[in-house]
Amino acid sequence: MGRIRVLPDQVANQIAAGEVVDRPASVVKELLENSLDAGATRIRVEVEAGGRKLIRVADDGCGMNRDDALLAFERHATSKLRTADELLSISTLGFRGEALPSIASVARVTLETATGEDSAGTRVEIAGGKFLHVDDAALPRGTTLAVADLFFNTPARRKFLRAECTELAHVTALVTHYALAHPEKHFELISATHTVLSAPPVARTAERIYQIFGKDTLAQLLPVAAETRLAHGGIPEPPPWKKDPGEPARDPGSLRLSGFYSKPELQKLNRNSIYIFVNKRLIRDRLLMHAITEAYRNVIPPTSFPVVLLFLEMPPEEVDVNVHPAKTEVRFRQATAVHDFVRDSLRTALIQARPAAGFLAALGNAPGASPSLIPTPASALPGSPDSDPEPFASARADAEPFGLSPQTPAPIPVRLPFDSVSMNRGGWMDRQAWGDAAAALFHPPAGSALEGCGANLVDGAGNDASAARAAAEVEAEQSETNLNHLGSLRPMGQLRDSFILATGDDGLWIIDQHVAHERILFEKILRDRQVEQVQRQRLLMPLLVELKASQMVIFARIAEELDRNGFEVEPFGPQTLAVKAAPVGLEGAALERMLAEVIDQSSADSQEPQQNEDLTALRARIAASIACHSAIKINTPLDPARMEWLLLELAKTSHPTSCPHGRPIALLYSWKEIQRAFHRI
Ligand code: ADP
Ligand code: MG
Repeated sequence: MGRIRVLPDQVANQIAAGEVVDRPASVVKELLENSLDAGATRIRVEVEAGGRKLIRVADDGCGMNRDDALLAFERHATSKLRTADELLSISTLGFRGEALPSIASVARVTLETATGEDSAGTRVEIAGGKFLHVDDAALPRGTTLAVADLFFNTPARRKFLRAECTELAHVTALVTHYALAHPEKHFELISATHTVLSAPPVARTAERIYQIFGKDTLAQLLPVAAETRLAHGGIPEPPPWKKDPGEPARDPGSLRLSGFYSKPELQKLNRNSIYIFVNKRLIRDRLLMHAITEAYRNVIPPTSFPVVLLFLEMPPEEVDVNVHPAKTEVRFRQATAVHDFVRDSLRTALIQARPAAGFLAALGNAPGASPSLIPTPASALPGSPDSDPEPFASARADAEPFGLSPQTPAPIPVRLPFDSVSMNRGGWMDRQAWGDAAAALFHPPAGSALEGCGANLVDGAGNDASAARAAAEVEAEQSETNLNHLGSLRPMGQLRDSFILATGDDGLWIIDQHVAHERILFEKILRDRQVEQVQRQRLLMPLLVELKASQMVIFARIAEELDRNGFEVEPFGPQTLAVKAAPVGLEGAALERMLAEVIDQSSADSQEPQQNEDLTALRARIAASIACHSAIKINTPLDPARMEWLLLELAKTSHPTSCPHGRPIALLYSWKEIQRAFHRI
């Protein structure tokens, strides 16, 4: 007898469950996606013990009749896909027909569903893959799926679930993401008896952001929208002999992008505040992460990350979602086009918005000071490439939700709908481990915000109007504060020979003279380099620079690019360089420091082999380094004409917001803030 056997369904389902369901959040994800696919407008998620004990998702979607309710638990049973061709253009969130049988094989599941058309609804109970009961039940239209005792029959998996609070944080992050993608729908998340999230329908994403994260976060985000026609479709046209001659040429369609991105002043420690949705599906994608980082290159520090909510829409044929069982990864058929479109749209938006940093906001936003938007462990997306590779493998402590330095104060999203009371009662998180910053998130701020939170919980209906009003207010205030008028400011003098004070109608400006000049030079150097017009200056005496052997190797690698940037450098002995010419404005010790800096940065990069530095990055680094070392220093007196020149030139730059290393250049004490501080309004 042969040794190969076909596995029973139950085993096959458990194997599939290993990929699809690795924690409560992934169950919630599958159920939420099903509800959205069913056209629900109201979705209520309840969890107990972080979802380990119970997950219940109730929707008002199309529901199922009795036959479908039973079929839904069969392997590869789906209403969303019929033929392999349809796999090429999937417009629903689900399509694998795997989620329900997988979940039912590792938990006790109760399904209650009704279409509203049949006389009765159906109630199905199934545990560990075995049907227990199927009954008629009088139910309203919609579906409720209750998943109890997850992994009750797979103790090995159960053991690797994290602490309740960690699992709840994952679930919260997930529901929040979907709530952001569907502002027109009503989402609720309830843990035991307390409402974690309540988001009644609103008209716009801005209002949803306000609902979920509050005013301060919305005030730091800017809207972006862009569209481009695709030159051709991602799937090749059939050959002429296979094509129906009467058939019109296929329209390749468009790439559309909308969403929000943070002003450079808001910086995060990790990527957790970057949310990418492709056709309303939340995904993790390295390519798009890279596009976003590129857009912010030399605007925020390379170690910081922005907050971005990106909604990409494209024809379903352009994106292959059948890449990963958890459907959190996709493959774009025209990857480069999508990448460049995202990078360029964001960059253009940043250049056009020229957002001004508020003096007070900048104080709370020192790089590295702010945790990610949603208090969640790194792996917000179950099964995503960025998440913990395996729940087993990670030795990271459970309660380490954002890995921030605890002593720094976080900006407080005042209306995050948590409250400290229920946090303590429910033992939501270990306060100590969260650090002061995290605790601040939960601390009810001033009275009004707490009331807002209360209203959020109790009276949903009144909320959309207030969210709309508040969001509009924030947006109006925001459009007033930009750097468009930099050139017409009146410089009044310097503070300690280092910061220029200038006034305009919008308030009092404080400008860091060194970084301002650095930005001006940086953009000029890049421009000149682009057209090969760098001005070099011969040194009277060659400057001799001693290097270590390893540095000589690096130097050889970047020598050509240095040459094109105005350097004339020749080896002068085995470990010495002779600099004969340098870019205008760079002399003596500064020149020596600049060279050492560029070489050291290059060597730091080369330690990461996969990060094969591209030329653009190297150019930007050299330009930044030259700019930094030749810019006006602090503690340098400037006459009025020089200050005016500096402001005028700064106004002409693309990114007057921040220096190439990401530090703020100009901070505004707005007229409104000044009036408020003097109790005039
Ligand atoms: P998939 O979503 O990939 O089709 P699932 O196992 O998640 O597979 O679900 C199987 C089928 O059950 C779906 O195709 C859908 O027809 C039905 N279904 C599941 N959840 C719901 C729901 N909340 N409302 C209506 N129908 C549902
Ligand atoms: Mg599904």
